[in-house]
Amino acid sequence: MLIVMKPGATEGQITEVLDKIKGLGLQGHPLPGQERTAIGITGNQGPVPKEPFDSLTGVAQTISVSQPYKLVSREMQGESTRVRVGDQEVGGGLFHVMAGPCSVESREQIFRAADAVAQAGATFLRGGAFKPRTSPYAFQGLKEEGLRYLAEARERTGLQVVTEVKDTETLELVAHYADVLQVGARNMQNYSLLEAIGKIDRPVLLKRGMSATVKEVLMAAEYIFSNGNQRVILCERGIRTYETATRNTFDLGGMAVLRSMTHLPVIADPSHGIGIRRFVPSMARAAAAVGCDGLIVEVHPEPEVALSDGQQSLTPEQFEQMMDELKAILPIVHQTLA
Ligand code: PEP
Ligand code: MN
Repeated sequence: MLIVMKPGATEGQITEVLDKIKGLGLQGHPLPGQERTAIGITGNQGPVPKEPFDSLTGVAQTISVSQPYKLVSREMQGESTRVRVGDQEVGGGLFHVMAGPCSVESREQIFRAADAVAQAGATFLRGGAFKPRTSPYAFQGLKEEGLRYLAEARERTGLQVVTEVKDTETLELVAHYADVLQVGARNMQNYSLLEAIGKIDRPVLLKRGMSATVKEVLMAAEYIFSNGNQRVILCERGIRTYETATRNTFDLGGMAVLRSMTHLPVIADPSHGIGIRRFVPSMARAAAAVGCDGLIVEVHPEPEVALSDGQQSLTPEQFEQMMDELKAILPIVHQTLA
């Protein structure tokens, strides 16, 4: 259930509602909006009684939420959320491009990538330091050394850093360096990791699992949100289907529907979505045209020698061109390049 407070409701009136929720053995989650605060209720097995809340001064309305993903649903909050990351905001009309190599390989490589993507208009630097690889023999990332290079690249360029956290053991370490914690496709249903991330104060980029439905993505986001971390950004990155001509099937239809179901920002990853460099720019344009809140794109100064995902990484020149093309599309979909 959702309790909508009257505009201008006082802290005391909000606390009164939260105390009443606690008294029923349930959890209250304040969701501050531009004009008024709403309070989501979770923890109930059956319907929550409305009467105890209707009589409280400060309460405008009580609304039942029919979806199993509650706090992240549009029913809970009609207005699109802007997720704050440092001095940036993602969502609600501001289109961000996150770019960089699949993996951090050396200081020189990440600096070259960071300089190039910053120059072309990206606001976030991506790069994996802890890499979940299909083969145990493949490059596993530079780990803490890679995180340090990312932090140096942030200092150098002012870009925000988004990097993957693979497990709960390294969460504190990764959170120490990252501006945004990326949860990879393989971990979308790692519920202990989602719960742990829910308890820390760092924005999260949650990627869709390879075989996850849109509803399962939202349930995964609900794990993070209901544990207290409301700064969640979702990412469509393609799903596994019977098609083998592309690395994944970039589910732009699913993304459009996802965006209508949640107030959280949704970005798209055309690099993993198609997996073939020459098609990445057109998939990026398509995603922007469908309506998303940003992109995450793999860019490598020398893709042919990349230690991971070189086949889908753009050169800096290709990236620059992609950015120019996006600038033409964004006004049509009422988005502003951040
Ligand atoms: C990545 O971003 O490089 C990555 C491993 O992505 P995903 O988890 O979507 O496969
Ligand atoms: Mn990759």
